[in-house]
Amino acid sequence: MSDNCIFCKIVSGTVPSTKIYEDNDVIAFNDIRPSASVHFLIVPKLHIDSLASCENEHQALLGKMLLLAPKLAKQQGLAGFKTLINTGVEGGQEVFHIHVHVMGGGDKSRNN
Ligand code: AMP
Ligand code: ZN
Repeated sequence: MSDNCIFCKIVSGTVPSTKIYEDNDVIAFNDIRPSASVHFLIVPKLHIDSLASCENEHQALLGKMLLLAPKLAKQQGLAGFKTLINTGVEGGQEVFHIHVHVMGGGDKSRNN
């Protein structure tokens, strides 16, 4: 748990989210500013800043997150989807708690 991390707060329930999946290791919830008709985030409960901060010990967790993507996408009605992991400020990362974006069902332009 990192004190000022919005995703840690979602994991702990301090900040609400539209949760679509949860187990002991990960949580998935809808992105608050979707860029597709279906846009959710797969987030580990463990706070890790970014993909660039991952170590060998996180291999199983990373694999679990990726394997969940097609399962949850199917549950959300998607036949196909895009995945995205933004890494670092220059990689477009805004929330420094690693997460996988899963998007599908048609683009939706962001207004903000
Ligand atoms: P990234 O640029 O990869 O760090 O993406 C962070 C994503 O988190 C953005 O798509 C935001 O819309 C999303 N986001 C930020 N705060 C929340 C929140 N409270 N609930 C759901 N999604 C959020
Ligand atoms: Zn965090």
